Amino acid sequence: MVKVTIGGQSKDFQFGVPKADYGHVPQNEKYPSAVAGESVWLPIMIEGKDLSNLNTLTIKALYGESRENEFKKYTRADGSDDWRERSRVGIWTAVKDSSKQIVSVNGYARAQNSNAFPHGVIENCSVRIDNWDFGNQATIMIDVSDTEFDNDERLTLSLCAMPYFLERDQPNATCTLKIQLQGEITGSPNQVLGEHLVKFQRNDDIINDKTQIEITQLVELGALNKIGEGNSIHPKQLLTSTTLVSEVQKVADEKSVNIAYIGTDTTENFSSLIRTVKNQISDRIETFRVYYTETWDEEILETYPNLLEAAKDISGGGFNLEFEKIPSKRCDDCGESDFIKNGSDWVCEDCNSKEYTLPLPDNIESADFTVATYVTPWAINTETEDQYIGMLNLLLGNDNSKLISVDPKAGNKSVRSWCSKFNLSDIYKKKLQLKSTPITKPQNQTVDAIVWRKKRVIN
Ligand SMILES: [Zn+2]
Repeated sequence: MVKVTIGGQSKDFQFGVPKADYGHVPQNEKYPSAVAGESVWLPIMIEGKDLSNLNTLTIKALYGESRENEFKKYTRADGSDDWRERSRVGIWTAVKDSSKQIVSVNGYARAQNSNAFPHGVIENCSVRIDNWDFGNQATIMIDVSDTEFDNDERLTLSLCAMPYFLERDQPNATCTLKIQLQGEITGSPNQVLGEHLVKFQRNDDIINDKTQIEITQLVELGALNKIGEGNSIHPKQLLTSTTLVSEVQKVADEKSVNIAYIGTDTTENFSSLIRTVKNQISDRIETFRVYYTETWDEEILETYPNLLEAAKDISGGGFNLEFEKIPSKRCDDCGESDFIKNGSDWVCEDCNSKEYTLPLPDNIESADFTVATYVTPWAINTETEDQYIGMLNLLLGNDNSKLISVDPKAGNKSVRSWCSKFNLSDIYKKKLQLKSTPITKPQNQTVDAIVWRKKRVIN
């Protein structure tokens, strides 16, 4: 027997979701035909001795019609306006940061695979990053062939869903997600071990404290560990770390490098990167400077007031870890930085001026490598775009400076946040005159890592 619970439930269930303030799909100017729900988190627990008989375990999540006859995927192929096909989903689990390749422990039938990363909690079990996908459907594949599951052991995952609702169905709008567990035994096709439907029901009265819920999920998955071995929970982290390590290792041995990291995320990416840098290339780093936004500061540092100090401790003095704030609005007239929204304008609280600038950070220096992971929603903001370009111009000040960008492969691959654009390749190419080289290892269907360098200028 394999037992699966989703959101604490072992059967199909309903779950209320409020509409989000982003992602509406207008039918015409007046009436939106669909609204996005806010993204919601549900824990998935898988347990049972029978897991030990399997080679791989695959979890798939897919939106569609209920299971009256056959589960039918939402689609617009028939010309209808069923925008629920735009719904998004992703499955997170804990993966050890270490990028060491997995070698079969029982000597049986498993080659080294640069796409297999050890699971963060269950021993001898690995997550296949090349089969880890987010988007309008989600997949995660876990190799369990060397794992002995006993009665107390369970595999914990977190599902994040952003369902779409049809406007005309309100207030009873629903969107159904099917979560299927499949197992594979040598010589047999994938077998369905369990199937659950979660019916998301639009309910705008629900208040969803997203930041707090996300942070709790991250803590439970070990993603915010500052000390020792920690876990990554999303392929973007593994791609960020492995790309930076391999780029630094390409630089001639005697040279120390300076790294700039632009941090706008919920810190799990930053945490895993610091752990990997410390464990693998600490002796090659002179300074690692984190440029962080004030929003990042407010939301995260309120919950983790000791984050910056703790991060300095774990760097262990092997390299300088520095933090530099990316300033928010500064009033052109009085120099203060408290602004309030008045209609569509931002107004200085101190002098009522509407004129402001977004200055560059106080201490910004050129770096050998600048890492920008999932910064698009922040950088593409009309207010911050010039500031971001100004920063990159300074950070890429050396002839050999490189930029490592990590972004979703498509807009719908982003489940936790909303952004109409999903990467900044146009800006990197056109405004900064950079040339790109996509990385080839590891492979992933959701995330692209690209190394950018300056075009050589021929005099
Ligand atoms: Zn002012």
